Amino acid sequence: MYEVIIIGGGHGGVEAAAAASRLGLTVAIVTLEKGALAKLSCNPAMGGTAKGQLIKEIDALGGLMPIATDMSAIQYRMLNRSKGPAVWSPRAQVDRDTYTHSIDSLIEERYKNIDIIEDEIVSLVTKNGHISGIVCAGRESPILTGAAIICSGTFLRGLVHIGENNWASGRYHEKASNSLSDSLAQLGFPLRRFKTGTPPRIVKETVNLDVLEIQETEVEEWFFARETKNRLLPQLPCWRTYTNQKTHELINSRINESPLFNGTIQSVGPRYCPSIEDKVVRFPHRERHPIVLEPEGIDHPWLYLNGFSSSLPEKVQTKALRTLPGCSEAEIGRPGYAVEYDVVPAVELLTTLESRRLPGLYFAGQISGTSGYEEAACLGLVAGANAALKIKNEAPVLFKRNDGYIGVLIDDLVTLDPDEPYRMFTSRAEYRLLLRQDNAEERLGEIAFKAGLIDKDRIDSIRERLSAKNAWVKRIHEVRLPRGKILPSDPEPDKVESAAHLLKRPEINLQQLLDALDGSLSDGLVYDSEVLKAAEIEIVYEGYLDRQHREINRLKAQENRNIPGNFDYGQIPALSAESRYRLNLHLPTTLGQASRLAGVTPSDLAILLVYLKKWEEERYLQKNDRQQEQIRTKA
Ligand SMILES: Cc1cc2nc3c(=O)[nH]c(=O)nc-3n(C[C@H](O)[C@H](O)[C@H](O)COP(=O)(O)OP(=O)(O)OC[C@H]3O[C@@H](n4cnc5c(N)ncnc54)[C@H](O)[C@@H]3O)c2cc1C
Repeated sequence: MYEVIIIGGGHGGVEAAAAASRLGLTVAIVTLEKGALAKLSCNPAMGGTAKGQLIKEIDALGGLMPIATDMSAIQYRMLNRSKGPAVWSPRAQVDRDTYTHSIDSLIEERYKNIDIIEDEIVSLVTKNGHISGIVCAGRESPILTGAAIICSGTFLRGLVHIGENNWASGRYHEKASNSLSDSLAQLGFPLRRFKTGTPPRIVKETVNLDVLEIQETEVEEWFFARETKNRLLPQLPCWRTYTNQKTHELINSRINESPLFNGTIQSVGPRYCPSIEDKVVRFPHRERHPIVLEPEGIDHPWLYLNGFSSSLPEKVQTKALRTLPGCSEAEIGRPGYAVEYDVVPAVELLTTLESRRLPGLYFAGQISGTSGYEEAACLGLVAGANAALKIKNEAPVLFKRNDGYIGVLIDDLVTLDPDEPYRMFTSRAEYRLLLRQDNAEERLGEIAFKAGLIDKDRIDSIRERLSAKNAWVKRIHEVRLPRGKILPSDPEPDKVESAAHLLKRPEINLQQLLDALDGSLSDGLVYDSEVLKAAEIEIVYEGYLDRQHREINRLKAQENRNIPGNFDYGQIPALSAESRYRLNLHLPTTLGQASRLAGVTPSDLAILLVYLKKWEEERYLQKNDRQQEQIRTKA
């Protein structure tokens, strides 16, 4: 008997287990292969646009992914540096094997109450309409539990395709899990089919890297995890090449051999992550597509061919590959492939990630319709924490859209009903400037501490840094100086302005002000480059940030307007049939959630608001009448 059982030891599973364990529960991860915890199914890289922000948020919530990323990073880059800080996104290439070993060692050293069991879970046991246990293929009796979290990735009825060959497999030559799908279907869960794909890995020594553009690691040091102090591994480059007309002609001429194009694969894949076949067919006017050759690890013999995902026959993949500069003699180590798998639509879930249909059962990661290591890890962490909090009879941990990308992710999933694998983009967040990678701890620290996900020392250090930043912001506003001190050629050099006012000019940065003011700006304040950067961003973007805060407060009034659980949408004839159907299906608890349901239009919302106000008024009047009646009776 375990208090929480996690089905699957992938990125979602390990975070779910660690979160439930941090809350003091006994946890088991049951997974198909013990040695493949948090295996990187696809590219050997973590983070990137919006995904880097997710990792920073996982760090603020005490998760494993940021620490393991730093332990295995072989190249760091902050993407979008030339744009505003709202979209700066940390990314790292990692050594594939070291990543998995790092997760292993973190669990072994820091999470003594997690057991890892190698087995296949074939069905779920229920009692009185609640999950009560799981049945493993290799054990006679079920293992009992108070909660189960399914994080089974692409394994449920997984079907791998390469050219005309296809076979049951969750990932390349890893066993698929069919019985668990059957068990979910028997319990009434609807199942959808999604697909994803991965590029070929190529043998490094067969590529002429000397003729390719090189991309080095960043010189400036920063980390994903608060606890990391140094780069631990040697830093390696990546290389860039491009497709050309020959590549496109070859792929076009063999397109019918791709299961994506000859009708073999019918399920929906991620549009934003197209295969090379898709790119060539959908963008015929493009002369070339960039392809990045990424190291799979320090001593790994293969390179990952980012941008070249394919399910063409292996021989065609080799021919297409050899049209790329630097790759004329390249050999494939492992071919690219596509995989189809079952998904439980996330609209089946509450915002705690517990299933509406079967209390005590949670879903996280690819099985709930997302794609990506980071998305899976966030969902796993939230599901693990909420399963544990429910068992402890404590309030769940919930995230609003303005708390973090994690809030955007969950809210989108449970309300939008995505019909393709969902991945995070910065454009999905309406409060991008507030949800920066540099302020994740500030946004989420108190939530994490309240839920028990981080300890007192961690929250104390977060509070200290926040008050240090606030002190800097205050000082920069207070200190005044003549313009000429920092802008020697200014036409009004004697005009005195606040340092904050001057800092908002694009040609001035905080370091220049510090240099010009000879210590009077920093007197008595904590000098920490990260704190300084945060203070600088806050001042430079003050106007925009204020506007976003005002917008949040304005929306909050309506966004958080509760919709009672027993609200009767049938009483509103003016609602469109589609809206009424969606509202009855999802039973949103706030007007904000209702507003994000697919098919619920702004005019439906306006009508709903009128009825909600009327409903509230009637309740108020009824309550008032009752009180008057009580007063009369007493008198
Ligand atoms: C081919 C391919 C290409 C991908 N491409 C990308 C990409 O380019 N970028 C990106 O961000 N993401 C990509 N992904 C997605 C990424 O790998 C997943 O989103 C992420 O790993 C999902 O994490 P997860 O925890 O949901 O599942 P996984 O990491 O897949 O882990 C699932 C775990 O569940 C276990 N399991 C399954 N069924 C059972 C069972 N019945 N009993 C016990 N254990 C079970 C498995 O052994 C495995 O450990 C790709 C995935 C695949 C397979």
